[in-house]
Amino acid sequence: MHCWDIHTHREGQPYAIFQAGRNITESETFLSLGIHPWEVASIWEEHFKKIKQEAAQNPQILAIGEAGFDRLKGPEIPLQKAAFYAQASLAAQLEIPLILHCVKAHDLLMEYLKSTKNPPVIIWHGWNQKPELARQLLPFPVFFSFGKQLLQPGSNATKWLAACPITRIFFETDDSGLEIGSIYRAASLILQLPEAALAEQVIVNWNAISKRKIE
Ligand SMILES: [Zn+2]
Repeated sequence: MHCWDIHTHREGQPYAIFQAGRNITESETFLSLGIHPWEVASIWEEHFKKIKQEAAQNPQILAIGEAGFDRLKGPEIPLQKAAFYAQASLAAQLEIPLILHCVKAHDLLMEYLKSTKNPPVIIWHGWNQKPELARQLLPFPVFFSFGKQLLQPGSNATKWLAACPITRIFFETDDSGLEIGSIYRAASLILQLPEAALAEQVIVNWNAISKRKIE
């Protein structure tokens, strides 16, 4: 049983989705490809064109992203929105998840979800917001990926993991440098479930929402 890491900046891990950003590289492992909100440039459509081509033909690309909104960093919001909407529709078309980066922009995500007929499955990565905000997202195809904040007792991440439907959870190391095993261990203590059961659940969850399967 493999403990999948669905979002990592560390390259070359076998059961992990490496965050390649918009760098289309030869890789033997799985990737997510996309334009990070910090990196949306005025010529983003050129970058997007390449991402679109690559994502359509390369089955190693398991997700689009990270993409999203950030009110603290990056270009002005209309530009971020345009890039996000294009990437979200690509993910929907390919039937693979979009990995979301969202900082102080919950309202922008809600606006998108409420105005879009066929949104892709969205995985909010590094979830550490209040459970009330998470609950607002449950009517939509939004999933939650938990990382290093699970190691902080009393964090919002630990509170929401304990309350979140188990079919909506994923785990990640992001840029923490931690081993994914330590995240599963923390989750296993919070949920009082064996790590192997969580590992299996994550695989089931992924395969229920994506055309590109993992095992
Ligand atoms: Zn990241």
